[in-house]
Amino acid sequence: MSFQNTLSYAKELDANDQLAAYRDQFHFPKIGGKEVIYFTGNSLGLQPKRSADFVEEIMKDWRELAVEGHFYAEKSWWDYHERLAAPLARIMGAKTPEITVMNTLTVNLHLLMVSFYRPTAKRYKILCEEKAFPSDQYMFQSQIKFHGLDISDTIVEVKKREGENFWRTEDVLAKIEEVGDELALVLMGGVNYYNGQVFDMQTITKAGKDVGAVVGWDLAHAAGNVELDLHNWDVDFAAWCSYKYMNSGPGNASGVFIHERYHGRTDIPRFEGWWGTKKETRFLMQPQFDPMDNADAWQISNAPVLALAPYLASLEMFEEVGMEKLIAKRNKIVSYLEFILREIDKEVESTFEIITPEARGTQLSVFLHGEGRPIFDYLMKNGVITDWREPNVIRLAPAPFYCSYEDMYRFGQILKRGIEET
Ligand SMILES: *Cc1c(COP(=O)(O)O)cnc(C)c1O
Repeated sequence: MSFQNTLSYAKELDANDQLAAYRDQFHFPKIGGKEVIYFTGNSLGLQPKRSADFVEEIMKDWRELAVEGHFYAEKSWWDYHERLAAPLARIMGAKTPEITVMNTLTVNLHLLMVSFYRPTAKRYKILCEEKAFPSDQYMFQSQIKFHGLDISDTIVEVKKREGENFWRTEDVLAKIEEVGDELALVLMGGVNYYNGQVFDMQTITKAGKDVGAVVGWDLAHAAGNVELDLHNWDVDFAAWCSYKYMNSGPGNASGVFIHERYHGRTDIPRFEGWWGTKKETRFLMQPQFDPMDNADAWQISNAPVLALAPYLASLEMFEEVGMEKLIAKRNKIVSYLEFILREIDKEVESTFEIITPEARGTQLSVFLHGEGRPIFDYLMKNGVITDWREPNVIRLAPAPFYCSYEDMYRFGQILKRGIEET
């Protein structure tokens, strides 16, 4: 594709963008009276304008119906979470019964490890990528301690090669092969939060299962960002947060995928609560746990309806647009951003390097050589919201739902001035 680094060309791309109208359906923060250029949809997605209505609906039902809202609200609360499963199944490539929404991400990963990390004397190792997201590392370490095992003997990290900024699939596969019948669990981030790399989830899942391990994915940076086909890839379980590319609001609920082969089984341990029991008998208040025959069996508490409301609002938008169109725009806008970066790099003395590999989603991670921090500060002061990751990386994620090509062009101009002036 031959792009141009001009305002008129960027505007032309926007004029031909099928999703352009969605930009106006989000609230943009302002700096100096102007809407920001928002690159941190990978951290906290913008607020859809319609989400307030979804929350207000719950507040109104609570005001007017009080406890009766559980069953008699138009969107009844007792099964509110079930409304999220079908739209999420389409995004995740799952069957609807394989999806549930509950708690928050790290909590869910712990709960899933209760069910799917069952170390034995021989098979007990956990494979992940080096420098996994810190919460995942703490989760692994505390789970291993909980099982009374030795952390350094249990965690197997796949490393990047010397001088390279990405993981090679062949190195992941070789490590899986090497650990072989000692490998209990493969649990990695589907998209790495730092370099934006999309792992070959299908190939890695198959390799893990071929050596007899259970395979799960942390899809925090993948959900609503990349194409997923969890059921057909034969993934055992996965979890993701909803506040990044899914625009559900700060700290919001997490989605969970549990392959149907595990449904209705009584030989799998699980931490249980009343929301996981069969709906027909739930309110008989009997002592016997009678599990739902789908992923909802992993539910524990009654659903946090006020939190689920903006998540449902956001999923309604995903339903309208579909992942296919989002991914098509994502590819184009990220390519345009990359082009802009390379153009600016030619115009000024080379000061940065894109460390995100070919296998990417919405995010480009850019390593700033030399004094990076002043450039980052300049961007933030001039209406570009990005984030800083030590030692010298800014992450740029132009979410296709609401970012425009004009944003990319304007960002390039601000970056160029920033490099010249700092
Ligand atoms: C964002 C993110 C989390 C966040 O976990 P919470 O429990 O929602 O705070 C966890 N893991 C990864 C890989 C992430 O990117």
